[in-house]
Amino acid sequence: MVTMHNLGFPRIGAKRELKFALEASWRGETTEAELIQRSRDLRRQHWQKQSSLHRVPVGDFSWYDHVLDTSIMLGHLPPRVLDLGGTATDQYFRLARGRSAADDDESVVAAGEMTKWFDTNYHYIVPEFTRESRFSPDAGALVAQVTEAREQGHNPKPVLVGPVTYLWLGKSKDGSERLEHLTALAEAYAGLLEQLADAGVDWVQIDEPIMVTDLAPEWRNALETAYHRLADTRVSLLLTTYFGHLGDNLELACRLPVAGLHLDAVRGGADVQRAVEQLPQGRVLSLGVVDGRNVWKADLTALMDWLEPVHAALGDRLWIAPACSLLHVPMDLDTEPDLDEELRGWLAFAVQKLEELEILEKGLNKGRNAIIAELAANRACHASRSHSQRVRNPAVREAVAGLNEVMGQRQSPYARRIEAQQRHLDLPRFPTTTIGSFPQTGEIRRTRLQYRRGDLSEAAYREAMQAEIRDCIREQEALGLDVLVHGEAERNDMVEYFGELMDGFAFTRHGWVQSFGSRCVKPPIIYGDVDRPDPMTVDWIRYAQSLTERPVKGMLTGPVTLLNWSFVRDDQPERDTANQLALAVRKEVQDLEAAGIRIIQIDEAALREGLPLRRSEWETYLEWAINAFRIAANGVSDDTQIHTHMCYSEFNDIMAAIARMDADVITIETSRSDMELLEAFEHFEYPNGIGPGVYDIHSPNIPTQASMVALLRKAAERIPPERLWVNPDCGLKTRNWGEVRPALAAMVGAARGLRQSG
Ligand code: GLN
Ligand code: ZN
Repeated sequence: MVTMHNLGFPRIGAKRELKFALEASWRGETTEAELIQRSRDLRRQHWQKQSSLHRVPVGDFSWYDHVLDTSIMLGHLPPRVLDLGGTATDQYFRLARGRSAADDDESVVAAGEMTKWFDTNYHYIVPEFTRESRFSPDAGALVAQVTEAREQGHNPKPVLVGPVTYLWLGKSKDGSERLEHLTALAEAYAGLLEQLADAGVDWVQIDEPIMVTDLAPEWRNALETAYHRLADTRVSLLLTTYFGHLGDNLELACRLPVAGLHLDAVRGGADVQRAVEQLPQGRVLSLGVVDGRNVWKADLTALMDWLEPVHAALGDRLWIAPACSLLHVPMDLDTEPDLDEELRGWLAFAVQKLEELEILEKGLNKGRNAIIAELAANRACHASRSHSQRVRNPAVREAVAGLNEVMGQRQSPYARRIEAQQRHLDLPRFPTTTIGSFPQTGEIRRTRLQYRRGDLSEAAYREAMQAEIRDCIREQEALGLDVLVHGEAERNDMVEYFGELMDGFAFTRHGWVQSFGSRCVKPPIIYGDVDRPDPMTVDWIRYAQSLTERPVKGMLTGPVTLLNWSFVRDDQPERDTANQLALAVRKEVQDLEAAGIRIIQIDEAALREGLPLRRSEWETYLEWAINAFRIAANGVSDDTQIHTHMCYSEFNDIMAAIARMDADVITIETSRSDMELLEAFEHFEYPNGIGPGVYDIHSPNIPTQASMVALLRKAAERIPPERLWVNPDCGLKTRNWGEVRPALAAMVGAARGLRQSG
């Protein structure tokens, strides 16, 4: 019999119950006992929704992050957190957020660094290693959840982040080599597994997603060492990989002494046949057949076609599951009142993905005849999608087919352009600007909400937003900034705002996906050909420009970011969708130019994060991504100045691509790296303008003029001063005016000081 299981379920709750429970507890409005009870309730509901599975995941639920949970389970917390004492819960939230609900100001500590989980938009708390790191494994909390699941009638399969992935995700804080901890860490994991065995656990899912990345020999050796140690424990290990293909790590994965191997058959389909051939007799092969990273219905007939022979070869050794944890998709399509029937028929969220799995299991275990009706219904949905008029827009297809090199090229090289631009912009040296958004006050949010709900007329809304723009322009003039912005008061989100004004995008009401801790994002769904029927920003920007003599920057989100922060259609290559988005943005850019806007910024905050996990795939990605940007940005005259902006990114290995964008100015986040990120630009002799952020907008601290002068001096050592701009790291929407005014005044002061000192 084929075993059906799941690698992980969304934990935030269908209505984000966990978010609200956490935030209430952080505000001190509820007790710890209440948080514990709400968490139990959520786990119960989530297992309930998975009750058809032969094995449910346990340990995938977390208050904040499962990597942080692993650190706790290993007794591996930084001393700064432990030193303050308090309960285990206090320590947990201190590491997560720098403070617990019980803390006064004195007990605030630096939170653990957060970074992205592989190529997802989920962020984990980075484990911190030093020479002194020690481990004391305690699986108590996990065992308690195993018991909970059993009491509710489920067959639990605990989930752990594997030891080598845990080590690999960590950072050394004292320059020591973290692989030195491998033996001790493997020993600690053996301890955890023995405790689980004592509790009667038979199978444990042990996640080693690093196996889909390019691994240096020492990391491959680390996997050998760790898994040989763990082979002596009394549990059966399901070595679990996802987010890509194993490729050159496949042999290693088949060789490691574990009881089973899970592969991502959606992204790593090519591995399956080799794994069937190479996996030693008696081992389980778990195939991740349902996409855990996107929201489309699976093609069940096609899946049956290739699963049947695999089943014939493997028999009971075949397990099936989603490709990866379902953490990365929204929970339940049934809670979406706004999606129309047709579109709904094409989609599957976490709950629906498990239903698909159930159909496949039935088909494999009972024969295809048992699922004739289900397969027919599934085929009908796919037919509806491929024939739908809403998916195809002939004019858009024609425009994409007509794309050519020239459309991505500026008329003249940068040196010529900058002269043409300076003739009418006449900016001083070290021009000052901001990244776009200004504080999103409660007033602004309320106005947008009222308008959305229909409680405010279009005219009243427009007037209210224009008043915000007026204030914002007045503030910037008073501060003495050189290039102004309209402030983005009308935007809820830099992707959603544009998606709502374009064809081909759909939005959910509850389609939340955890980003970090209690924070979620609600990615739009790109289901059809993208078009921009009407201008999206021109009226706002033109109004802002009408209020001032100084240049106002038009502010747009770029095609690659629109794509990377959405669920993207899977019925055409991403490159094609990127090109459609590029043409839509290009129209907006040209309309802004025609409206007399002389500077246009196109944000590509998510360009770097879209890089594939495997280096060998970078070039292909960068080629289409950069081309899409060029199409969007470069259809303007020499006189128009194009800016782009990127948040915190490593630029070293993508400098050639950045230069190929050919933006007149790129603004980047650098203040926290002490301008070290500029090294890449210096090394590459990056030829165009650069605005390295001098002010960390993530912190409420107000930077001093002296600190910004110091940063700019450092920048000027690396970049010719005539090409430097002065700006904050990113948009100011999360700050308040009390912080922004003095900070920007100091920033303008810093720039003026530098101008005078030559
Ligand atoms: N223009 C956007 C803003 O200022 C940029 C945001 C971002 O890069 N994440 O808010
Ligand atoms: Zn940014």
